[in-house]
Amino acid sequence: MSVDVVENTAVQLINEDKEFSQELPAYFQQCLKGRDIDQNYHVISVFGSQSSGKSTLLNLLFNTKFDTMDAHNKRQQTTKGIWLSHTTEVNTNKGTTTDPGSDIFILDVEGSDGAERGEDQDFERKAALFAIAVSEVMIINLWEQQIGLYQGNNMGLLKTVFEVNLSLFGKNSKQLEESQSQKHKMLLLFVIRDHVGVTPLESLSETLTTELENVWKDLSKPANCENSTIYDFFDLKFVGLSHKILRADKFLEDVKNLGDDFSNSENFEKYLFKPQYHHMLPLDGWTMYSANCWDQIEHNKDLDLPTQQILVARFKTDEIMNETLDKYFENYDSKVKPLILENDKESLIKLLVSIKDNCTDMYDDLASRYAKQVYLENRYKLISKINEKFYNTIELFIKGISTELIDSLKKSLANKDNEKLSFNEILLQVSEDITKSFNDLIKNFQNEDLINNDSIKELTSKFNKFLTKKQNELRDVQVKTIISKFKKNMNFSMKDNIISYLSSPTDDVWDKILKFFNETMDELLSQYKISANDETEMLYDFQVGFSAELNETIYKRLRYIAWTILNTTVHDYLNEETVTSILRDRFENSFRYDEHDTPILWKDETQIDNAFKIAKENALEIFDVLCIAKRGDNTEIIPDIRIEDVEVEDDQGIYHLERFAHIINEIQKEKVLRQFRRQINLSALDAKRSMISTTTH
Ligand code: GDP
Ligand code: MG
Repeated sequence: MSVDVVENTAVQLINEDKEFSQELPAYFQQCLKGRDIDQNYHVISVFGSQSSGKSTLLNLLFNTKFDTMDAHNKRQQTTKGIWLSHTTEVNTNKGTTTDPGSDIFILDVEGSDGAERGEDQDFERKAALFAIAVSEVMIINLWEQQIGLYQGNNMGLLKTVFEVNLSLFGKNSKQLEESQSQKHKMLLLFVIRDHVGVTPLESLSETLTTELENVWKDLSKPANCENSTIYDFFDLKFVGLSHKILRADKFLEDVKNLGDDFSNSENFEKYLFKPQYHHMLPLDGWTMYSANCWDQIEHNKDLDLPTQQILVARFKTDEIMNETLDKYFENYDSKVKPLILENDKESLIKLLVSIKDNCTDMYDDLASRYAKQVYLENRYKLISKINEKFYNTIELFIKGISTELIDSLKKSLANKDNEKLSFNEILLQVSEDITKSFNDLIKNFQNEDLINNDSIKELTSKFNKFLTKKQNELRDVQVKTIISKFKKNMNFSMKDNIISYLSSPTDDVWDKILKFFNETMDELLSQYKISANDETEMLYDFQVGFSAELNETIYKRLRYIAWTILNTTVHDYLNEETVTSILRDRFENSFRYDEHDTPILWKDETQIDNAFKIAKENALEIFDVLCIAKRGDNTEIIPDIRIEDVEVEDDQGIYHLERFAHIINEIQKEKVLRQFRRQINLSALDAKRSMISTTTH
């Protein structure tokens, strides 16, 4: 493609559609007329608000023909984009230099004006970024009045541009820094327009420098540039230009002075093109380089995306992390299991520590060369993955140990040597000991950094739950033991004694029985008795670590059991037959024997009839006592405990406690009486027969 190049006219390097020009080689071809300039060229760009006189300055300084919005073409819309112009002419105090050894390429950015700014910040930002990436000197054009006004002097845009530049090209500068003795830098040349001179240039430069340093401090910097300063990447220079219209002569003078600094390479101090600003690329290399830069800038859509460097780091460190885990966790289970089974704490900890060390060593070795932030992120991930795997192991190990500890608790409770202490005292003391052992165990793992705080919390809470559950189980067993021991002893004391009371009853037999019952129960419960605060009320503590309420429940249950034992004993024993036989015994005792237990020898029938009548009355006197259980004051005995008051798994008696006092009912009474009468009549008959036989002989 041929481009008609008029001397010093510009080519649109990047157009309004943000496309990089294909015409660049042809443009170079024509403006250099076939000269091979190799690396002998310079690139300058300009940055600043629209209509701040950028193009005007460039045209004056370098004899270029960038579009300007001057008085003659105010209406004319300049075309948006980045324009590139070649020049060999610099306006200096010695006239216009045309030194063929110093070809200069100038980039002018044409944006939209302030009113449309919001819409095209993207272009502005990308253009500035591109300018920084490809040029040696960037002229930052600003009005004197703008200085100090953050909004006005483009510091916000500069901050964004610095930030993105660092993340996109920071690594490049670092590589350059490593491969070359000289650090690559660029010059930021602040050109202060309409400088009246009231505020000296020095103080304006100071203000700007402070602002720039602050902007740099606030940048979010990539890992490898964290401690960088603005001077690692940029040199700063400041120039003031007089008012173009009000002091036209002075303005031109100032422009020429600036031109001197761009052309006089002899004056090393002031010469603006320092070797370290150059990209050291031949021109066609620079073309390719700038095309790539634009591509990268343009395709980093919001200029906030992770850079290539970060993406590579993520991929690589992920891969290394997984390889590391695969390598050191191979056959992990089979290595760890025997140690768990053998409760071998030392070896287990040793093994885990070595696995962890190996993993982090391998990861550090291979991954630390990638972007630090990503490397550290994945290192953290690696460690959490290792800890996750360890957690299961440690949990299994601790479970085994916990079971052992609980067994020791059971043993201590069963140990006869501990008998001086109550069940609850042993339970609490040993629980405290095993909790300490557990905590020590956890500490062992914690000290080696094999377990994190959350996991410790979780394991501790699991252990506490387990311990509480086991304690409750042991308490339940203890309560059952107390109950069955009580039942056995109560049964043992009651049965024979109660039956012996009932088999030869007296009028006050029930008072005696109640007294005996209460005394027996009191005695059996005496070891659990405690006195309450007010001395009158006795309370019970069964020493299993229960609340007063629960102790009360157990107490009620024991009383209920005692009552059912009494109930069953009485009702089992006092059936129709037994009652009949008790009555009959009583009758026989008085009918047949005298007060010395000698059998009576009957003399006549009257004697027999009298004795019979007395004996029968005597026997029946006790009948009502056996039929219904009453105290001496003639009140029915009612158990002072009801089934509703206690939780029992099974109702102990076939006889209902409520009907405790009612032993023989009316129908049974009739039967007993009939049976009794028959038997005593037989006895009387026998007596009469015996009298006849004695008299006949
Ligand atoms: P650009 O958009 O930054 O490239 O600005 P232009 O170079 O197109 O100039 C914009 C307007 O500012 C034109 O009307 C110029 O005549 C005027 N101008 C250029 N330089 C100066 C200057 O140094 N001082 C003042 N006051 N006006 C200037
Ligand atoms: Mg312009």
